[in-house]
Amino acid sequence: MEVCSICKEEEPIYYQRHSGLKFCRECFIKYIKKKVRKTLGKKIIKQNVKIGMGLSGGKDSLVMAYLLREYYDPIPNSEIIGLIVDEGIEGFRKRGIKIAVEFCKKYDIPYYIDTFEDHIGYTLDRIVERAKEKNITANPCTFCGIIRRRILNSMALERSCNYLAIGHNLDDVAQAVMMNYIEGDIKKLVILGKSIEHPKFVRRIKPLKYIPEIEVKLFADLVGIKYHSEPCPYSSLSYRNEISEILNLLEKKHPGKKYSIVAGFERLVKYLPLEKDKSICKYCGNPSASGICKVCEILRRLDII
Ligand code: SF4
Ligand code: ZN
Repeated sequence: MEVCSICKEEEPIYYQRHSGLKFCRECFIKYIKKKVRKTLGKKIIKQNVKIGMGLSGGKDSLVMAYLLREYYDPIPNSEIIGLIVDEGIEGFRKRGIKIAVEFCKKYDIPYYIDTFEDHIGYTLDRIVERAKEKNITANPCTFCGIIRRRILNSMALERSCNYLAIGHNLDDVAQAVMMNYIEGDIKKLVILGKSIEHPKFVRRIKPLKYIPEIEVKLFADLVGIKYHSEPCPYSSLSYRNEISEILNLLEKKHPGKKYSIVAGFERLVKYLPLEKDKSICKYCGNPSASGICKVCEILRRLDII
């Protein structure tokens, strides 16, 4: 019988192609817990820390919440809370929110829900319609990502969180790196790799950034996390999807390339300068380099402000 490369006893359930290791159920679960703990490190897993976790109800955010809860539970004066954003995507988002709320209730995690409509007066569906009426060809994910990011930040800021944890996995980070490499978008690369120090920004952390998507899914299934797996109706339109297909093909031919994309980027980003946003947005008062921030730029293009 084939045996697990770690314990040399149990039957393997997962073969990690890039390392050549075979894991049994128990050793795989331990491996993920240890790896994510190491990613966060002792500077983050400690006393007197409050973490806001962006929760969508999908596997990534719930695996992240499951792990963070386990790490912080025994630590005195530490707190984790769930931050849920309802973008307003008919027939999709409500189901994800229901699952995220059930998760929080099951594990006794306080949670808060904010909506696009409360913050900007429009749901994402209405923003997409409005963009069509105005012949603006931007992808729904562009609007969604920028606005959600802002709302999550303000939710975390309002509740005095020290960190905002986002469930991006290795695949997500590798895709973001490649998209910005292709455009040569140095500013976005720097924002992706360095945290902006500003009283109006809560530091973002990505506990799952070294865990590939298939391992996040396997972990969720092995520990019995119920998650929302339907794709967003807008996701097939996304450029990110195309990049994801290319990276999956690359990974298939050359196992480990997603890791090297992210590791290489982290080495490189140390040499890129982080420019301070010196001015503030004239509409909302948030920091911005050009005097008008990304969110307000979108809202202006759509004639909302
Ligand atoms: Fe928003 Fe795009 Fe994600 Fe849908 S796929 S939730 S539109 S970022
Ligand atoms: Zn603004």
